[in-house]
Amino acid sequence: MFKKRLILAGGGHVHLPVLARLADFRAAGIDILCIAPGPYLAYSGMGPGLLTGRYTLPEVRFPIAARLARPGGTFVRGTVSAIDPAARRLFLRDGRHFSYDAVSFGIGSRVVPDFPVASTPGLPGATVYPVKPIENLLLARQELLARTAAGETARVLVVGGGAAGFEVAAGVLGLAAAAGLDRTTVAVAAPRGLLPGWPERAVELAGESLARRGATVIPARVVGLCGQTAQFSDATARPCDIVFVATGTQPPGLFTNCGLSVGPGGGLTVSACLQSPFHPEIFGGGDCIHFGPTPLPRAGVYAVRQGPVLARNLLAFLTGDRLRPFCDTDRNFLALLNCGDGRAILRKGPFVAEGAWAMGLKDWIDRRFMRSFPLRPSSRSPGPDTGGPRGSAHPPR
Ligand SMILES: Cc1cc2nc3c(=O)[nH]c(=O)nc-3n(C[C@H](O)[C@H](O)[C@H](O)COP(=O)(O)OP(=O)(O)OC[C@H]3O[C@@H](n4cnc5c(N)ncnc54)[C@H](O)[C@@H]3O)c2cc1C
Repeated sequence: MFKKRLILAGGGHVHLPVLARLADFRAAGIDILCIAPGPYLAYSGMGPGLLTGRYTLPEVRFPIAARLARPGGTFVRGTVSAIDPAARRLFLRDGRHFSYDAVSFGIGSRVVPDFPVASTPGLPGATVYPVKPIENLLLARQELLARTAAGETARVLVVGGGAAGFEVAAGVLGLAAAAGLDRTTVAVAAPRGLLPGWPERAVELAGESLARRGATVIPARVVGLCGQTAQFSDATARPCDIVFVATGTQPPGLFTNCGLSVGPGGGLTVSACLQSPFHPEIFGGGDCIHFGPTPLPRAGVYAVRQGPVLARNLLAFLTGDRLRPFCDTDRNFLALLNCGDGRAILRKGPFVAEGAWAMGLKDWIDRRFMRSFPLRPSSRSPGPDTGGPRGSAHPPR
């Protein structure tokens, strides 16, 4: 039988349902080739728990490559750097290229410091950890523990007071309390305050949670980092050893560079069916798209909701069936923030609550999400992942 090839660019949350349906695609004569920088996908909802030590790395990641190590699947370790839509070809950073009958983008978003970072030769600089990829949180945990073991201070600055910034700051405080890191201090640069856009009660609870554990919230923007000194928009400066960047996410520049239609943030424009309006064989979902019918926030909850629709539409497109629209754009989703001390803040619409029970609920939802995908390794294993990064269920936030 003549086989078709579906390429999954990126092994993001949005592609998990496609991987779970490998057998359906194979039965329809479609091989799936997935290109991703590493063999695993770390589940960001459990990332802050990785920082505190609540979870281990194997508990929070999906073995993408192992799932593809079966008939009909191929995993390629690499990074997509260009697309030639006319030739239906993808190019990798290392020079390889692959042709497709259909391609789906689930390459997520990246966190880029919106301030200059400079160092002075011969002088120590702060370690900078963007909050994505999630594995950076584990690297930061290891650095915090190592600094304490060496008797060094750890002056932590979290840049950004949104949900991810709050969870990371709270996570560092949780780790410091649990592991006795008494030379660790935490400050959060939050020019628009903590949790902008959240209900007032959630903002209060987040502020109290950080303040009672000694963290400082700085109502100013970081305008530069030079060595171990952060400069703020109010002309003050602050020494720091570890800097987390949680200033928001943006799609990679890939689509703009390849002349594809993009939205205001650079995300691939897709229709309600998660399909490019100009290149019907190009699909996408999650953080890397601009959802044409109504712009959506970049949250894993949408990637997770879009995944099954994307899987169904990719199969339908390649078998000549009818596509269905993605309609679940409701913004009133359950959100749970890990406070790092065994408690969580819950938000559902205007309702806000906090407590250990909320963390219990979050833990239960997150673990159930991890178990819900048949992605456990089959016979072959991709081997250890050595390339460490630096640099709903998804369900609730
Ligand atoms: C600390 C933190 C906590 C969060 N918690 C929550 C939460 O609780 N709930 C929630 O709704 N959202 C949460 N988010 C947001 C959530 O992480 C994202 O919205 C979600 O991961 C997007 O999923 P995705 O499928 O679009 O891409 P991702 O799941 O991010 O995956 C993208 C994949 O593509 C790969 N990739 C990137 N570029 C390329 C390329 N050029 N070629 C090939 N592969 C590539 C990446 O390595 C990655 O594996 C959190 C974010 C952070 C930073």
